[in-house]
Amino acid sequence: MTLFIEGHAFGYELSRVAQMFFPGEKVVFQEGAPCGAPALGARLCGGVLTVSYREASGRLHSAPEETAAPGCTPGEMEHMFGVMLYRLLSRATGVCPPWGVLTGVRPVRLFMTELMRGADDGALRRRFMDGSLVSGEKFDLALQTARIEQPLLSRSTPDSFSLYVSVPFCPTRCAYCSFVSQSVERDAALIPAYVDRLCEELEYTGCLAKELGLRLRTVYFGGGTPTTLSAEDLTRVMGTVADRFDLSGLWEYTVEAGRPDTVTPQKLRAIYAGGARRVSINPQTLSDTVLCAIGRRHTSAQFFEAFAMARAAGFDCINTDLIAGLPADTPEGFAASVDGVLALHPENVTVHTLTVKRASRLTFDEARSELELVGGMVGYARNACEAAGLHPYYLYRQTGTLASLENVGYAAVGTEGLYNTYIMDETHTILAVGAGASTKLRHPKTGRIERVYNYKHPTEYIGRFDEALRRKQRVRLFYQDSGL
Ligand code: SF4
Repeated sequence: MTLFIEGHAFGYELSRVAQMFFPGEKVVFQEGAPCGAPALGARLCGGVLTVSYREASGRLHSAPEETAAPGCTPGEMEHMFGVMLYRLLSRATGVCPPWGVLTGVRPVRLFMTELMRGADDGALRRRFMDGSLVSGEKFDLALQTARIEQPLLSRSTPDSFSLYVSVPFCPTRCAYCSFVSQSVERDAALIPAYVDRLCEELEYTGCLAKELGLRLRTVYFGGGTPTTLSAEDLTRVMGTVADRFDLSGLWEYTVEAGRPDTVTPQKLRAIYAGGARRVSINPQTLSDTVLCAIGRRHTSAQFFEAFAMARAAGFDCINTDLIAGLPADTPEGFAASVDGVLALHPENVTVHTLTVKRASRLTFDEARSELELVGGMVGYARNACEAAGLHPYYLYRQTGTLASLENVGYAAVGTEGLYNTYIMDETHTILAVGAGASTKLRHPKTGRIERVYNYKHPTEYIGRFDEALRRKQRVRLFYQDSGL
């Protein structure tokens, strides 16, 4: 699908608005008058804005033109165009993406900004529901999330940082995976060398953090599936963290034990002894048929066993991830997964909406029914979590998420996953180690963000490790004038 733009430079944002209406199709923009079909048009001439959409069948949809007020800024004009295009495409297709013209990954941040400016509910409603066409349901969700998340973020101080440790190995690769993760069926031989390098990088990073006067607040082991490592390797890596970093000011320590088929009592004991108190055990669904369809190669029974093992090992904060919209799932099946997980009383539940891969196979008409189905699923999850005493504390969106929906973390009061909020909000520096990890530096004075990327694949990371360490020196330079 091509969006033809004339007389302005808002093609990028307008193509993102249009993208929500055409799942599985890439919307690109170019300058010029619309030609061919299907095609979209957005024209600015003498302060007058017009938008159009010609279907593949040749049928033309156009909206009444609007005139920009004198003194209208480029940002206001772009917003006007976005609203016009959204309304036109909603009418033409019958689809109403629930986040309106908000296309960013962090809509809650916009709400927090307004709250900090002192906006009341009425002003927020005018800005987001009337002005940006956000649905009432998403408005309530974002506002509630912002109110819970804001105090969590404000705990962070200028010298705070989090540590991310990447273990990019999984037992098998899930059908929907978009992470850099190697299946151990293929790459188990890399693990010993990987663990050696990982410990070396942790030692280097720990020295750097001490030298810079940074205070470690949260540790997060992710990937991949960290529990793909043996109990001995977990003990070694977590021991290196404990030896090389000052954990005295730590607020949270999480290890993802995502795939239940990797969890054993020995590994959980090693993780607990290593200092972690929060684990994430992720069924994604409790339907064995769906698990099979997505290539997880474990059963729901294994999830229940892993969860019980984690409780027996002493973990008093367990997160479970679920995904709405998985292939072969149904609203009833998803509701049963939500209920089954909540019956275990996890402290945290994270509800994701499936991203692009499935959407890419959908036809437009199918997408319309998916919108209702998946929207109903995430709505069910929200109500059920609330009824179980879990409240939304962080939320983000991804490009290509089914029906333009969101991912939401729910938690019992006082058990919120802090790392999740800090990385999503870019509140403070995340020093990341391991293959596929990217360090995100946040300047304590200016808020400037800079990224330092590690090699993505374990083979490259192991083979070019000296270069990976050399890149880390960037961290020292970044903090030179930080006043810490
Ligand atoms: S468990 Fe997660 S990281 Fe591993 S293959 Fe599946 S989706 Fe990817």
